[in-house]
Amino acid sequence: MTSIPPQNPPQVNSAREADVIVVGTGPGGATVARELTRRKKDVLMLEWGADRSIRGTLPQFAGAAAVPGKSLLVTGDLCAMVRGITTGGSSVFYYATAFDPPLETFDAQGIDLRPAIAEIRAERPLAPLADSLMGPMATRIMQSARDLGYDWHKLPKFIDQAKCRPDCHRCNYGCPEGAKLSGRHFVDEARHRGARLISGARVEQVLIENGRAVGVTYRHKGARHQAYATTVVVAAGGIGTPLILRNSGIPEAGRDFFFDPLIVVMGAVDGIRGGREIPMAAGMHREEDGYVITDMTVPWALHAVLNTQVGRLDQLHRHRQTLAIMVKTRDSLGGWLSDRGGIRKRLTASDKAKIRKGDAQAREILVHAGARHIHRSWYLAAHPGGTAKIGHIVDRDLQTRFNHLYVCDCSVMPRAWGLPPSFTLMALGKRLAKHLAGEAPADPTAETL
Ligand SMILES: Cc1cc2nc3c(=O)[nH]c(=O)nc-3n(C[C@H](O)[C@H](O)[C@H](O)COP(=O)(O)OP(=O)(O)OC[C@H]3O[C@@H](n4cnc5c(N)ncnc54)[C@H](O)[C@@H]3O)c2cc1C
Repeated sequence: MTSIPPQNPPQVNSAREADVIVVGTGPGGATVARELTRRKKDVLMLEWGADRSIRGTLPQFAGAAAVPGKSLLVTGDLCAMVRGITTGGSSVFYYATAFDPPLETFDAQGIDLRPAIAEIRAERPLAPLADSLMGPMATRIMQSARDLGYDWHKLPKFIDQAKCRPDCHRCNYGCPEGAKLSGRHFVDEARHRGARLISGARVEQVLIENGRAVGVTYRHKGARHQAYATTVVVAAGGIGTPLILRNSGIPEAGRDFFFDPLIVVMGAVDGIRGGREIPMAAGMHREEDGYVITDMTVPWALHAVLNTQVGRLDQLHRHRQTLAIMVKTRDSLGGWLSDRGGIRKRLTASDKAKIRKGDAQAREILVHAGARHIHRSWYLAAHPGGTAKIGHIVDRDLQTRFNHLYVCDCSVMPRAWGLPPSFTLMALGKRLAKHLAGEAPADPTAETL
């Protein structure tokens, strides 16, 4: 029998000081960091992913969002969940569609997001795509849906359209033109104002002393480090955050969550040679049916993945003729995360019924558009959240049961919503930064959990 050599205890290296440590740089964390530096706070951002400039290439996307067990997680239903492990988080690869935050949900928690939403609208280009940027596939799908009487409309985008190029699909892999707003923009702005970013830094735990957060431990280049600050904001996303919280004395994090499962329904048409356009240009939200349905034209490599997943190798050569419609659903809360981030959550019968209904509607639109060879992908997901809900793990100021330990990302969503959350996360980030800077005093009725 071979003996297992004892593991060397990891070396602990030097401390770093800051007013606020922000863990993770997706839309939640990057917004907080940016807003705090605008208020002259000394901010240290710790980001697990790399900080290479965005090239908009398949290899860069695959390295940040398709590494099995890290950025590509698979559920028991073989639903593939992707997240971006890079500076800017998943928003580097998102489709920049901006759905208005669910105000009533937040009002019910005593959180008024209206001022933050108004600020974002005033600061950012937020509009549907101009006709010249709508691709031929999105246009054909929209025409078909409207012919059938559906309220199919263009969706608002966080895209600076003046920087955008027609016949371009690189936003799928990260937009090298800087046209698509992502967490990267906020990180760059924060750094410009003096914030520090350590990339490749995987935070493991928040250090708690006398019921108060004082810093974090993280791994960087094979060694363990500590960093100290007055306040810690954990914004490592719907999967990353609960793991850190659990290691820090909040074992109940990471239960009863959502991930917005989706399918893509595809069919080939004549008279089109597309395949290079901005996805999610138009669609409709079927609130009562629990799903959103939009066009979703993807580059060849992703088309190949969607078809290979379901054994439709016969469709690989039809990429430039294939209309693709996404059905993204509001799944029921449930499941739990393993301590290594494994997703232990199955789709329920009601989740599958919503998907089937959306599938049927997508097929109707494709048939009317003249599509043949209609088929669907397997399940995918890209919005994990609700793993550290407001009213359960954090209070209405987003503070945990430990003083000066806050959470600001999709984890805090108080209920399943089923829509893309980045606009909401930016609004939460703005509100939290004001609170931390003392501009919005804590609500006296807010309970410390
Ligand atoms: C293909 C795709 C398309 C999408 N389209 C849209 C869209 O059109 N509109 C929309 O609103 N949303 C969209 N989304 C979803 C959106 O991108 C995410 O919901 C959003 O980015 C979540 O933000 P977050 O701040 O919660 O976390 P993330 O963006 O996931 O950021 C978390 C960050 O924390 C880092 N991190 C994780 N663990 C650690 C750790 N231990 N230590 C340090 N750092 C850590 C990660 O590297 C990451 O940078 C899309 C997502 C994908 C993948």
